[in-house]
Amino acid sequence: MKNILFFLLFSSIIMSQSNKEICVTIDDLPFQQNGTTSTEMQSYYTQKLLKKLSAEKISAIGFVNENKLETDGKINPAKLELLKLWLESGMELGNHTYSHKGLHNSTVSEFEADILKGETQIKPMIKKAGGQLRYFRHPYLHTGRSLEIKDSVNNFLRENGYKIAPVTIDNSEWIYAFSYQKALLAGDSLLMKKIAKDYIPYMIDKVRFYEKQSEKLFGRNIKHILLIHSNALNADYIDLLLSQIEKEGYNFISLEEALKDKVYLLPDVFTGRAGISWMDRWALAQGKKKDFFAGEPRISSWISEYSGYDE
Ligand SMILES: [Zn+2]
Repeated sequence: MKNILFFLLFSSIIMSQSNKEICVTIDDLPFQQNGTTSTEMQSYYTQKLLKKLSAEKISAIGFVNENKLETDGKINPAKLELLKLWLESGMELGNHTYSHKGLHNSTVSEFEADILKGETQIKPMIKKAGGQLRYFRHPYLHTGRSLEIKDSVNNFLRENGYKIAPVTIDNSEWIYAFSYQKALLAGDSLLMKKIAKDYIPYMIDKVRFYEKQSEKLFGRNIKHILLIHSNALNADYIDLLLSQIEKEGYNFISLEEALKDKVYLLPDVFTGRAGISWMDRWALAQGKKKDFFAGEPRISSWISEYSGYDE
């Protein structure tokens, strides 16, 4: 009897843990860089990143800026090859505009033109691989300063076959990545390790924070969508990051699967300047005040100082 009770208790713990789900989305493909990195370096780290994602059987989606495929204004075939590797590794590709143009700094027609320009290479490439280009991620998570602008862009996206890819676990991983790239180019491997050692717990704190916010807002943990970027930091540490997230009780799911959570049917009516998490948008829509948002993890100040970027 004791054994049966123990078994039931144990399996309920396992089951409650396995209910947590998260999707990994990776922006700024083929490679996020601060300044310029060589094509060889981009290729090395892309292969490393994809090898780790495939080994863990993660169905991630990468959002592309096609201007990052160019060298001196022309498509660089070696960089185009990197996107093919993403598809061959079983990952999905989405559109992140051609030039990473922010909606808040452009007109609706400029923005829409940048969306269309951003599918020139990837749309036929995905089709050829038997897939379909179906997701869009707003650069800087800037989704429009008025409901009219939002509606107009949303309709345009829908008419062109896109679903918006929201983000629930937003973070400043990019500042860690810029620090990491700086240390890498300086050949300072000790500093690279030190940055990574700060990065992983910061990200886990973010996951825990948004999990708590989800419980407070909806009384349950929603299917989350994590945002990170395609860079050297993640190529070197994504296996560790994902295993730590797994230890928090998460299973990894595709974006298609994540968007089945009915929470994503809630409208996004946020028209503020900042590019914030959809969790924060829903909280604001519910009329939550300042104290609700307290306690969000911050990057370490030395990371900010070393990179020259702030949150
Ligand atoms: Zn981006």
